Amino acid sequence: MKNQRIVITGGAGFIGSHLTSTLVEMGNDVVVVDILLRGNKIPKEVQSKIEFHQVDVCDFDAMAKICKGADLIFHFAAILGVDIVADNPIETMETEVNGMQSVARAASTNGISKLIYASTSGVYGHIALEQSVSEEILIDPRTSYAMAKRYNEIYLASLFEEKGVHSVALRFFNIYGLRQDNRMVIPRFIEQALAGDPLTVYGTGEQTRDFTYIDDAIKATIHLAKSAKGFEIYNIANEKEATILDLAQIIIDVTSSASEIKLINAPSKRYDYEVGRRYGSSEKLDKKVGYKPTTELDNGLRIILTDN
Ligand code: UDP
Repeated sequence: MKNQRIVITGGAGFIGSHLTSTLVEMGNDVVVVDILLRGNKIPKEVQSKIEFHQVDVCDFDAMAKICKGADLIFHFAAILGVDIVADNPIETMETEVNGMQSVARAASTNGISKLIYASTSGVYGHIALEQSVSEEILIDPRTSYAMAKRYNEIYLASLFEEKGVHSVALRFFNIYGLRQDNRMVIPRFIEQALAGDPLTVYGTGEQTRDFTYIDDAIKATIHLAKSAKGFEIYNIANEKEATILDLAQIIIDVTSSASEIKLINAPSKRYDYEVGRRYGSSEKLDKKVGYKPTTELDNGLRIILTDN
């Protein structure tokens, strides 16, 4: 992927900013659309190489103008973070649904034939009980965020049928890496470990997640963007299950911290959002593009700490 005009919504956020840097490095004209809800995470040296618009994705007129002449759109703008979503379920859904419709219309009115969408492994809800989840499994979204993401996946399927816009929905499994903020567990634990404060593990800490390193997620995303045809859904997962207690211990080890692990009750608003077990299969991704995430959790954490 080179010499393409690429629009990235949410391109200043955590995943988006990594995608922005990589696509600039590859020699593309990158246009970032972001309302900077969480500041601008794009590295300074990259900021001068992009076109930037502080615009709400829901603003169709603005999006239609910005997307003119683009070859491809990555729609990564979203409201996320369990605490924020739990406090703002309606706003979360509105941003998802209105944002997607605005971006989809901007694509079809400008004759842009490819759209890559950041969905979520949250659509699986409580499904991942005994196995890693594959894309074929029946999903069970429980939250406004996950429901809206699932709705948009279906919307994209119809966008292909009706308007011929090719798209991919990426179901990201707990992506982590540099520049992520402490809404998510890994940066939060690293912050606590570096400060010597207790690591606040919610509940028993036996719940699991599949932590996927950002560089792997970006590689997978770009492979899929190149090969997108029709409408497809892919897991972006590391295929490894780690308990939150394990995670806390690994972070204490890699930071050589004297912090303790403290089991506490999760804030009540998190109750509906907690999933006991979640890990994914990247087999479909691997079959399609010959690549899947492999960075081990402790290695990914070491890279973050060295580059910090
Ligand atoms: N978690 C925790 N302590 C914290 C923050 C999160 O034990 O201070 C746990 C949380 O209960 C969940 C996991 O870490 O099981 C991942 O939480 P996060 O909010 O990063 O993502 P989620 O997968 O829940 O969307």
